[in-house]
This record gives sequence, C-alpha cells and structure tokens, in this order.
Amino acid sequence: MILSDAESVQPPDAVGRSYPVVLAGAGHAHLVMLRLWIEAGWQPPAGTVLISSGSKAWYSGMMPGLIAGRFELNTCAIALLPLCQRLGITLLQASVTALDSQQQRVELDNGEHLHYQLLSINTGSQPVAPAQLDGSVSILPAKPFPEFIHQWQHWQTQMPSSVMVLGGGAAAFELGMALRQQFPACELSLACSGDLLQSHGPALRTLALQWLARADIAVYEHSRVDAVMHQQAFAGELPLRRIDALILATGASALPWYSRSALTCDSQGFIKVDRCLRSSDARVFVAGDAASLAGSLRSGVYSVRHGPVLAHNLRAAVSGHTLLEYKPQSNALALLATGNGGALMSYGRFVLGGQLSAPLLGRWKDYLDQSFMRRHRLLTQV
Ligand SMILES: Cc1cc2nc3c(=O)[nH]c(=O)nc-3n(C[C@H](O)[C@H](O)[C@H](O)COP(=O)(O)OP(=O)(O)OC[C@H]3O[C@@H](n4cnc5c(N)ncnc54)[C@H](O)[C@@H]3O)c2cc1C
Repeated sequence: MILSDAESVQPPDAVGRSYPVVLAGAGHAHLVMLRLWIEAGWQPPAGTVLISSGSKAWYSGMMPGLIAGRFELNTCAIALLPLCQRLGITLLQASVTALDSQQQRVELDNGEHLHYQLLSINTGSQPVAPAQLDGSVSILPAKPFPEFIHQWQHWQTQMPSSVMVLGGGAAAFELGMALRQQFPACELSLACSGDLLQSHGPALRTLALQWLARADIAVYEHSRVDAVMHQQAFAGELPLRRIDALILATGASALPWYSRSALTCDSQGFIKVDRCLRSSDARVFVAGDAASLAGSLRSGVYSVRHGPVLAHNLRAAVSGHTLLEYKPQSNALALLATGNGGALMSYGRFVLGGQLSAPLLGRWKDYLDQSFMRRHRLLTQV
C-alpha cells in the first residue's frame, strides 16, 4: 500500500477524523519502533497518531523492582510525548474500545472515532479473573500498570493482612517476591493452575519454590482459583485460604474488542498474524501480546523483538517496499527478580540462581533493564 502525498493527510469526514497511520497502544513493540524510526531519521506520514491510554509507557521488566521498593516511580516509565514530538506524531490520550476493520475505524472511550489507512495494534493483554467473585476481597490485576501502581501506593498506607497472587508464570513469582520485600509481616501466598513456571522447565521451578519457601510464601500448585467467596479462595470445592486481597498475574487473555474486530483471531481471541506481523487484513499490523503467531510467546522479550520488524514493515507498507519476516527465537533469556536485587536465570535448559549466583544475575538484569530505559530516554533529550 503506497500512501501518496495527497493521501497522507485526509480531511476529517462527517463523523470522525481520518489518519494515514494509527498506532494503537504504546506497548514494548511500538516503543522500540518509535526509537528505530528516530534513529533512522524517518518521519511517518503527516497526520500519524499514537493512541495510548496513558501518557507514559511502563516497562514491565522493572515493575517488580518498583513494587519491591528498589526503583523510583519515574525510572520505570518512558514519557511518550517527547518521542512523538521528535517524529511529528500526535499523541492521543484515550483507550481503544472497538475496532471495525471493514470500515477501517477505531472507536475510543472518549466517544470519538478515527478512520485509518494503516493500523498497528500493540495494546497487550490482560490477566484473567476467577469466574465467581462476591466483592469480599480487593482484586488487583497486575495490568494495566498505572492502576496497579496506584493501588500498590495505597497499600503502603493500609496493607491488607493476607494477599494471594494468582498465576504460575514469571510475573506471579516476581510479584510475590517483591511484595515480601515491602511487606514483611503480610501473609503471602501464590496459587496456580499447573506447575509453577511450567513453560520454563523443572529445574527453574525447583529453584523458584526454594526462594518462595525462604520468603515464607505459601504455594498452591495445580489449584485453579475459580471463586473467592466470603474472603475465602476456592479451587473448585476446595477452600485454599482466607485472604483479603487478590493480585491477578495470571496468563495473558485477549482484550475483548480483538475478536469483535472482524480480523481473524485464534481460539483465545488473540489476533492471528503472518510472519510479517500482518493480520488477515493487510492494512492492520499487530505486535506484542495481542498477536497470535506460532513460536512467538507472550512476554516482553518477544514483544521487544517484534519492534524492529514492525518498524521496517510499517515503513514498507507506507512506501510500497518489501516486508520483512519475523523469526521467533527458539530460546529466550528469562531473568526473574527475587525482590532483594537478585535474580534467577533460565535459558533453554540452562538454569542458575542459587544464593551465590542470584546477586550477580540481579545486577545483570538491572543493567539490561536500565539500558533499555536509557536507550529510549536519551532520544527524547534533543
Ligand atoms: C508484573 C509483570 C512483570 C513482567 N515482567 C516481565 C519480564 O521481566 N520480562 C518479560 O519478557 N515479560 C514480562 N512480563 C510480561 C510483559 O509485561 C508482557 O508480555 C509485555 O508487556 C507485552 O508487551 P506488549 O508490547 O504486548 O504490550 P504492553 O507492554 O502490555 O503495553 C500495552 C500498552 O497498551 C496500552 N493499552 C492497553 N489497552 C489499550 C487500549 N484499549 N487503548 C489504548 N491503549 C491501550 C497499555 O496501557 C500499555 O501501555 C511481565 C508482566 C507483568 C504483569
């Protein structure tokens, strides 16, 4: 699709404005893409807009460190306006509530709608909540991050006495360990539907269970919490524990509007893409957790790797050049923060993170995370 100069800025139509390129969400992939466009000196077509529910992009790798009290709030997020200004992109602070891909139309929570010629979606995923909740405990989804942080700040003045983290992946482990640093007297537990860290293999699971036991965090594996009634968490009929707050760090679920968009989605409601990160509609690209592609997992690491391919392919789509293919890596490095500055590591079958190696791995994780933040921030200091 080639956008000519005449096409690049369209006059507003009768009911909504029209844009040559709409970027929905400021996830990891879009952040990398914006940086690469700045580095390459490429300006997207005039009238390009970034829709973001917040004015900052939060970096998930640093979130557990923030909760553990190791980082200041402003070191964990990147302001979007300076990046947009460098590229001549308009930042629109709103949330996408619906997409009609046949009408090339995005609806926003402020009642507005936008028409696009090219759309790129990087709005991530959300955790899953138990089916039955009677309102007897506070429920805190780990995402969106701004709401999560807001509640965590409130807890600093009034901490619940018993908190359960739901989820069996890296995020659940890290959040449990981070909370222990901040709230030493709180009763903490973690419940997951299968083995802890199932996708990372048994060696990392064993190590993580040892860390959780030392931190006095009770672990319930093979316990899918499907109800919380009268402050009691239930796995099926089985009462697990009395709690007064529940943190949702469960596996990613799709935002509801993905499957209502007329784009082809998988059985879980994520948008199917080809190797060029293109959806069933060639005018819509999708990256990060929102995308469904064999071999590409839902994690920040994979989303960051989508960034360069997306940066190339949106440019190519604008100018009619050949698209690049994304090749998912077979192994990804995982560094799991232990809350106290340490980390566990897994790469394929290789696992490290005993008492001696964890502090060094933690320093390495901090270095990688802070390098990511520095790379994206420096560009905004003109
Ligand atoms: C606590 C925690 C720690 C984690 N740590 C790691 C880690 O160390 N390493 C790792 O690889 N993965 C980690 N993850 C997983 C990681 O966060 C996600 O896989 C990753 O963020 C997905 O990136 P994304 O690019 O799809 O979108 P995200 O980074 O999730 O960003 C989506 C963006 O879109 C915005 N948005 C959402 N909905 C809308 C809407 N409707 N309209 C407009 N904007 C919208 C959001 O506000 C957000 O800015 C962690 C997750 C959690 C919860």
